[in-house]
Amino acid sequence: MEKKNIDWQNIGFGYMKTDKRFVSTYKDGAWDEGALIEDDMITMSECAGVLQYAQTIFEGLKAYTAENGKIVLFRPNLNAQRLISSAERMEMPVYPEDKFVDAVLKTVKANEAYVPPYGSGATLYIRPYMFGINPVIGVKPASEYQFRVFTTPVGPYFKGGAKPITIKVSDFDRAAPHGTGNIKAGLNYAMSLHAIVTAHEEGYDENLYLDPASRTKVEETGGANFLFITKDGKVVTPKSDSILPSITRRSLIYVAKEYLGLETEEREVYLDELKDFAECGLCGTAAVISPVGKIVDHGKEICFPSGMEKMGATFQKLYDTLTGIQMGRIEAPEGWIYTVE
Ligand SMILES: *Cc1c(COP(=O)(O)O)cnc(C)c1O
Repeated sequence: MEKKNIDWQNIGFGYMKTDKRFVSTYKDGAWDEGALIEDDMITMSECAGVLQYAQTIFEGLKAYTAENGKIVLFRPNLNAQRLISSAERMEMPVYPEDKFVDAVLKTVKANEAYVPPYGSGATLYIRPYMFGINPVIGVKPASEYQFRVFTTPVGPYFKGGAKPITIKVSDFDRAAPHGTGNIKAGLNYAMSLHAIVTAHEEGYDENLYLDPASRTKVEETGGANFLFITKDGKVVTPKSDSILPSITRRSLIYVAKEYLGLETEEREVYLDELKDFAECGLCGTAAVISPVGKIVDHGKEICFPSGMEKMGATFQKLYDTLTGIQMGRIEAPEGWIYTVE
């Protein structure tokens, strides 16, 4: 297989059409077999459920070339399980876990020529998603759906190393108490757009959202979970029912405990204790870890001792260990790495 002629170092994080995508249709109460197709366009009714009432959910994961030259995926079974929870909450049909993993493997295989080489820092981003496609005008769940998977190559998230970012405590909420904050639904992103555009206009990189009920506890940003390191080296992550359960966060907590022997704690984290942490970071598939240097709460600056120049020492160890596992340089826990054959 010959790789596409792409400048892997400089592709950025945008959409680039690749050769094949997977499509499966749900109709009359059942999913069809699904197939890889070439057409990247979707034709649907003007009254489709997704267009009128935003019935759409998604996942995000990456395929990349490991040190041994094989194309691998990181824990796609957890993306499958999370899409199932999202579907259940949104009154959408479940796409079975084994079929999800199979569809992802097939789509990556069909677009193998777009998987960036080992060491380039670039990856093939995979976007599985599902939406209601038949006409819905009275408010109710759609009765027909599409499950799709497309891929797009993306560049290294941080060119020339991860620089710590500055985030603001947002006056907007990303989730409601008992709402949909814990599932990966497009609607959570739609409502965060105004908040992120506003934050960027004010010169911040991201928003820190508080718990929507009491607005005293830390939740997450628009698309990444928080991790904190205490001054005595413990890894702390916020606990809440309205946080999206990040696979990267869950993997980092495991790595902290089992590979680095660190103490870990998932608990409520109050805004007024942020000043006591030694390091702060965001985690998600895209960047693995983005270090946070500063959080600004209505003019009051909380500066972490790890500073604005580089990732803190504990996060650097976590980052090196998890990316080492992903790239095949460090032995992975059983079942974490799937090879695309
Ligand atoms: C996808 C997502 C994350 C990160 O999850 P990963 O599984 O680690 O990629 C965090 N927060 C939100 C709101 C998300 O949508």
